[in-house]
Amino acid sequence: MSKKFSLGDVETALSPRERFEEYLHSKKMRFTQERKLLVEHVFARHEHFDANSLLDDLTANVERKHRPSRPTVYRTLGELVEAGLLRKFELDGRAVFEHDYGYPPHDHLYCTKCESLIEFHSDDLLELRNRVAQEHGFRVAGHLLIIQGVCAECSQAKRRAKRKQDLL
Ligand SMILES: [Zn+2]
Ligand SMILES: [Zn+2]
Repeated sequence: MSKKFSLGDVETALSPRERFEEYLHSKKMRFTQERKLLVEHVFARHEHFDANSLLDDLTANVERKHRPSRPTVYRTLGELVEAGLLRKFELDGRAVFEHDYGYPPHDHLYCTKCESLIEFHSDDLLELRNRVAQEHGFRVAGHLLIIQGVCAECSQAKRRAKRKQDLL
């Protein structure tokens, strides 16, 4: 998926690993080797991913004997969401994850041609959201906005193809 990430980081007191450890501790759960490996792996770089792409990535990069099983990966992803470390949303019927902890709030543009997710942040949008909520006496907990369409690169490619066709 998209590699266009320009939003930077938000400073946090704890590392994702420490934060996860604290969460597990509060739930009386153990910080197992598998959980350690997964939180480190997932937070090594910012990207949008689903369970399958994470599993493929683990298969390619982690020795078999250390590799968490599919059910463990699914369960741990759920825990990372619960702990406020990851954000989960649905896209084309599959669950997509991305960093929430240490990453600024943002929304997405989704290109249905190349399937890239482009991130943006808009104060105007937040203002509108808050105003609408206020008009309804609604307390905001969060929102999810995905604008669907065709990205600049894909629409340029299409125009180029069409021009070429017109010349024939
Ligand atoms: Zn595109
Ligand atoms: Zn994002």
